[in-house]
Amino acid sequence: MEKSNEDALSEVRRYLTDLMVFEGAEFVVPIEVKAEKIVAQVGEEVATPQAAEPIIGQMAPAEEIVAAVRKEADADATDLPTPATAIVAAADGKAPGQAEEPIADDGNALEIFRQQICDCSKCSLCSTRQNFVFGAGNPAAGIMFVGEAPGADEDRQGEPFVGAAGQLLNKIISAMDLRREDVYICNILKCRPPNNRDPQPDEIEQCEPYLKRQIELIQPKVICTLGRFAAQTLLRSSDSMGRMRGQSHQYEGIPLVATYHPAALLRNAQWKRPTWEDMKRVRQIYDGVEL
Ligand code: URA
Repeated sequence: MEKSNEDALSEVRRYLTDLMVFEGAEFVVPIEVKAEKIVAQVGEEVATPQAAEPIIGQMAPAEEIVAAVRKEADADATDLPTPATAIVAAADGKAPGQAEEPIADDGNALEIFRQQICDCSKCSLCSTRQNFVFGAGNPAAGIMFVGEAPGADEDRQGEPFVGAAGQLLNKIISAMDLRREDVYICNILKCRPPNNRDPQPDEIEQCEPYLKRQIELIQPKVICTLGRFAAQTLLRSSDSMGRMRGQSHQYEGIPLVATYHPAALLRNAQWKRPTWEDMKRVRQIYDGVEL
């Protein structure tokens, strides 16, 4: 029986998605080339390469940044609150002198916050770190990825997800039709635990307010936690990754999608498929398709 146009196109889309997830270790394939090949298999008469739409949809237009940025501390460093004040305020979930309303950030408030906390010595990790790894990306990002803690590469470079797991995360982000600079990437802990040991409860307790404040400043449309540890921390859960993923969650009213850590995907290729499903959900929430 002949395939309808719609059947053929959805077959093309499914093939493309699977190829992105399953072909080798790569998330990304040159879509146009694959599309041509697959369309040829499915039937030229019904599906042209042009008809094979982007799998996840086009990137949403750049978000409008509401102009409610704090001005009080921007020009003159002497106006900056003391680090101690800042840290107390951060623990309260507020910037110093900040009104209760959430604010959208043009990058200024986030950078000021980074400066306020980057010399943090609230836990013992400050004595072993090379760099405080605050976070990187678009301060007005719609998608915020939250990992566990910096590793050796991140500690050395002062940027999250720049090692092997970071390379894979970059591929995942490209497969979502986004660039690393479109999203925001950070961790639960800002300093590397020695020998990449698990974060300790007291370290999380001291560091999580920083993340909470970052989320308030960035106001993402969706948070994507990477790995069990980040999901358990933000969801106050002790569930396994398998139980947490595939469910609808929220953190402080923001949709949260829990998925596997890219480092885990490097060891367990069978988790790429469910991860890709999670990433499609992230993209849909970002696009406002699923709310
Ligand atoms: N793993 C993480 O959880 N975060 C990083 O920044 C790097 C690796």
